[in-house]
This record gives sequence, C-alpha cells and structure tokens, in this order.
Amino acid sequence: MRVPLIAGNWKMNGSLALVEQFGQAFAKADLSSSMEAVILPPSPYLAAAQTAFGKTSLGLGAQTVNPEPSGAYTGEVSASMLSEFGVRYVLVGHSERRSLYQEDDKAVLARAQAILKTGLIPVLCVGETLDERDEGRTETTVLNQVKAVFDMLDAQQRQHMVIAYEPVWAIGTGRTATPEQAQEVHAAIRACLVDYDKQMASRLRLLYGGSMKRENAAELLAQPDIDGGLIGGASLKVDDFLAICQSVG
Ligand code: PEP
Repeated sequence: MRVPLIAGNWKMNGSLALVEQFGQAFAKADLSSSMEAVILPPSPYLAAAQTAFGKTSLGLGAQTVNPEPSGAYTGEVSASMLSEFGVRYVLVGHSERRSLYQEDDKAVLARAQAILKTGLIPVLCVGETLDERDEGRTETTVLNQVKAVFDMLDAQQRQHMVIAYEPVWAIGTGRTATPEQAQEVHAAIRACLVDYDKQMASRLRLLYGGSMKRENAAELLAQPDIDGGLIGGASLKVDDFLAICQSVG
C-alpha cells in the first residue's frame, strides 16, 4: 500500500504570513489520514513553519541541501540542520537546480546520499525537456536519471527514496502532461525499479509534477502508478493546495 504524498514546493516564494495562513487553514482542514501533505518552504521559514504546522497534519520538506555535513560552504545548509527543524523530505535533482545551478547526476547522487545518511527521504526529480520528448528520448532520459542514482545506492537505501517525474516542459508553464502521458512514464519508471527489486518497486512512491492544479489533480492522481504530486505554483494558494490534497482518492 503506497501512502499518497502531496508536496508543495514554494521555490523562492512565500512569507511568514503565508506560513501562518497554511498553519491556520490546515489546523481546521478535513484531510484523509491515509495521505501525507508536506510544504517545502524556503529554508529561512523552516522554524516558523515547524511551529505553525505543529498542530496540523502538514509535514515539512526542504528544496535543496549541501552534500557535506558541515564546513566552509558559505550560504549552504546541511541535511542534519534540516533534520533539526523537523524536515522529512528533501528534493534532489529538481530541473531548476539541474539547469540554473549545474547540478549534474553526480551532484544529485551526493545529495541523495547525504540525505539518506541523516535519515531523511530524498525526493529524486527526473524529467525530459521538450526537445528530448520531441526526439523520442523521454524514457531514456528519465530512466538514465533514475539509474544514475539507484545504481549507486544499496537495497536498503533504495527503499527510502521517492521519485518525482516532472517533465521540464510542464514545470511552471501551465502545460500539464496528460494523465496518459504521465502514467506511461510512471509505468516505465516502476518497470525499471523492478530490475533492482520487485517489492521495492511496488512500494516506492512516484509523484507527478508539472502544472498540477486543483482542476487536473484528481485525474492525474487516479492513474495506477501516480502516487502523489509535487506542486509548484498551486502550492502557494492555500485553498488550491488544500483542494489538491482533498482530491487524493
Ligand atoms: C515544480 O517546481 O516542481 C513544479 C511542479 O512547478 P509547477 O507546479 O509550478 O509546474
């Protein structure tokens, strides 16, 4: 049984007021106990979010991490620091990190390993660009990104991963993959995971991300291999994010 996960990636957006608004709304919200909802605010808001979400079912995640445990890395944050604020999930390989900060598969792996070592859960983001899709290279691109990390983890570590399929052309563009397009890639990822371990493959959660909103969430989440969503823009509006959480079937 895979517990659906809805994760809101605020990116470099939000405010203390928004953190409070989410805390108050989720304190009153009627959410199924058989799903998980988490918000990934910018790091400076983690302490406030930990307090504001304390009496709600909302969990906490982080958007990035430095792979080193500590040291002279000005501006960076370690996995153990995130853990002190109640963070449970940390994104690795988000397309914005890959393209804007040149985080390649090696950098993604180093971060995933640091997160796992601290007992947190990496959410490995993978996805093809529009050119790669048009050239028929969607599956190869996505599976190579998965394998670059999974090949280097041990069996125990693989079980503690979450994968988010996020077609780059659908992120922040308003253009969503159709449920069929998303399901096709999710099924390919799950089939690839079977090569490592059948039971792990059937238990691992695969999220869809890319312009998911309250209007299309239910249809995407109804697909057999879609176990949740990674939500950017729509996670900044409390009513929209709540509606997406409530559309988990
Ligand atoms: C994201 O940044 O992970 C994302 C899916 O963004 P959006 O929902 O805005 O497309």
